[in-house]
Amino acid sequence: MVTVREALDLLVPQFSPLGSERVPLPDAVDRVLAHALTVQTDLPAFDHSAMDGYALARASAVGSKTLPVSAEIKAGDRPQPLAAGTVARIFTGAPLPPGADTVVIQENTTRNGAEVTLHSLPELGENVRARASEFAAGAPLFEAGSLLGPSEIGLLATQGYAEIEVVKKPRVAILATGNELRTLQSPPAPFTIVDSNTYALSAALTRAGCIPVPLGIAGDELSVIQSHLARGLEHDALITVGGVSVGDYDLVGDALRAAAVRVEFHKVAIKPGKPLLFGVHEQGSRHVPVIGLPGNPVSALVVFEIFVRPGLLRMQGARDLFPQAIDVKLANEYRRKPGRTEFVRAQLKYESGEWLAYIHSQQGSGALSSLTAGSALVIAPQQRGKLAAGEMLKAIVPSMPRRSDPAFAD
Ligand code: AMP
Ligand code: MG
Repeated sequence: MVTVREALDLLVPQFSPLGSERVPLPDAVDRVLAHALTVQTDLPAFDHSAMDGYALARASAVGSKTLPVSAEIKAGDRPQPLAAGTVARIFTGAPLPPGADTVVIQENTTRNGAEVTLHSLPELGENVRARASEFAAGAPLFEAGSLLGPSEIGLLATQGYAEIEVVKKPRVAILATGNELRTLQSPPAPFTIVDSNTYALSAALTRAGCIPVPLGIAGDELSVIQSHLARGLEHDALITVGGVSVGDYDLVGDALRAAAVRVEFHKVAIKPGKPLLFGVHEQGSRHVPVIGLPGNPVSALVVFEIFVRPGLLRMQGARDLFPQAIDVKLANEYRRKPGRTEFVRAQLKYESGEWLAYIHSQQGSGALSSLTAGSALVIAPQQRGKLAAGEMLKAIVPSMPRRSDPAFAD
């Protein structure tokens, strides 16, 4: 049995970054940039006013309070040079006329027909967004591996990038195994359960930037499992779920070995998720990581979060693979035995300046309701026994809980 750290060290590097593809700019959100990009045009591209007001040459305005207004420049206008000793009425986004260097905001002026009286003179360059003040053409814009969010997409648009080369989305096959499983569409039958893991894992894969490819359900029979694996191994990664434990009908390990998957480890000192299997299928230039998840629904999702998601992010060329661990205070005690690193499900509440973790009463690896939105995984270190109320521990929060009121507005 390997530790969580050993398992991560064996697993994550086997997820090699995929090649790239060109996508229209709007589709690049949440994708990873494949190549570094440089600034194409100065940003801003021209000196322009940041405010509604009057543009002037500051040096020529010193001492004179009332000045003639010789021009009006709207956003989008092509400005004429500013006549000496005059000001130009100007609006936000409008280009500064040649000869002007400063804008007086309209709130600090009084307009009288063709003249304006200035109540104060700002510093040189005030209220002007100078050409290239944010970026100059030729400078680096984004490094390869940058994650593209809304502001990156906006900046890429300013630079004329209508299409972007991003790392491909991993296509990840999911094979559910178990005689008791039925599809969501098939009629309920006694002693069967819906293959909910395929849905949960597909959702987790979509959130992790991947394309889930459900292969369906294989019964607990070696030849049946094997017949599905060949198709699964044609994808960028293969996830099997169920059948990796020690029972007589846990046949996934054998089926994978028979399908030329080199098993790197089987069993990790983790709770939930101990039966986890990881292997690699290599054939020619293909290098397919294979993850055998335990079938218990909580185990499957916790193991996905801790091991599989970081690997899949690496496949997408991301630089930062691992979740943040935040400091939380336990609200209630938790009894446990040392030996495995445990990810204890808890609900987080922010109280008096700290995160309190209320440990969920149901810690069974089948109780999916302990892992709904806003849940935290409090980390009980491998060698620790009972955890006391009031203790500070680390926790992973797959999705940060939101709140009912806008506290940021206080
Ligand atoms: P296994 O890992 O095959 O020993 O399964 C452990 C538990 O998870 C059993 O109670 C299974 O019925 C359940 N299970 C296995 N696969 C799935 C699945 N795809 N969806 C929901 N539950 C499952
Ligand atoms: Mg099973």
